[in-house]
Amino acid sequence: MDVSTKLFRSILLTLAGNRAVESLALKYGLRLGASKFVAGETLEEALEQVRVLNRKGIVATLDHLGEGVRHLSEAASFQEEYLRLLDQIRITGLYANVSLKPTQMGLSLDPKAGYSHIHNIVIHAKSLGNFVRIDMENSPFTDATIELMRRCHAEGLTNVGTVIQAYLYRSEEDIRQLTAEGANLRLVKGAYKEPRAIAYPQLRDVDANFKRLIAYRLRSGVYTAVATHDENIINWVKSFINEERIPLSSFEFQMLYGVRTPLQEQLAREGYKVRCYVPYGRKWYPYFVRRLAERPANVWFIVKNMVKR
Ligand code: FAD
Repeated sequence: MDVSTKLFRSILLTLAGNRAVESLALKYGLRLGASKFVAGETLEEALEQVRVLNRKGIVATLDHLGEGVRHLSEAASFQEEYLRLLDQIRITGLYANVSLKPTQMGLSLDPKAGYSHIHNIVIHAKSLGNFVRIDMENSPFTDATIELMRRCHAEGLTNVGTVIQAYLYRSEEDIRQLTAEGANLRLVKGAYKEPRAIAYPQLRDVDANFKRLIAYRLRSGVYTAVATHDENIINWVKSFINEERIPLSSFEFQMLYGVRTPLQEQLAREGYKVRCYVPYGRKWYPYFVRRLAERPANVWFIVKNMVKR
């Protein structure tokens, strides 16, 4: 990554946490172009998009957008929304599970309440035969997020998993322990701004670590989601599973709604399990800005959209 791209990315990731810019952006709504990455502001709109994906042989994970809540009452209403979401998945018969963020459930305000909200959602999902993915946020929450999952597992609630980020130095050790515990994991490169003291600053090192972690997991046979749009990594995974005779049933590819849609469809046609991460809701701003930071060309897409109006 060249210096200007790095700077650009860093500015965008800082803006992702800026409340003033967020209120300004929300005023203009999804019209700004966020609808490329966000399935809608309502659950009904999101379910419609999942229906379209399912018809193409792609399953989904639904994310009701929200993070870093400032009041526990907000976290409690997010919990209610997830319970309703799980019910709607059952009622509609769609192929989807759910993804949620720990700080959306109140983890940073009151860890006990945050745990209780997630626990209630996991119990409800279990009663419906569904699965909950706890997304991984920035590094102050890594330990607590892994711990949340472990506490559920200790109670026999194995229908919950989390995410490991390849940019963190600690991830190799986390993967070893969590694989021994049989935890269902999603592997990603990592989307937040992290200091070089704890995370690889160079993309090529992140990619090399990502491959090491994927190889370790796929050899272990413990169910793994490989979440990336990087075609080099995807092609490498395809060759790896052929060489090592890894069963297709032990992993899935995951990609984000609106990103590399033709590739998602192609992989599904080739017989791979593909899950699309479908975010929806009013609180789309930080998620949207992280997507812009991943690819500067996305900013031009948004600017073009604004100019066309
Ligand atoms: P990159 O090297 O960033 O991208 C490879 C290529 O993919 C790019 O050249 C570009 O062509 C395309 N591409 C990538 N991103 C975009 C984009 N936004 N728009 C258009 N094209 C793009 N991160 C976390 O920290 N915690 C999580 O819990 C988490 N969950 C995720 C769940 C899913 C299903 C996915 C797909 C990603 C998740 N991420 C999460 C984000 C992840 O960490 C990366 O930031 C993101 O996936 C970009 O990295 P990449 O692997 O696609 O590779």
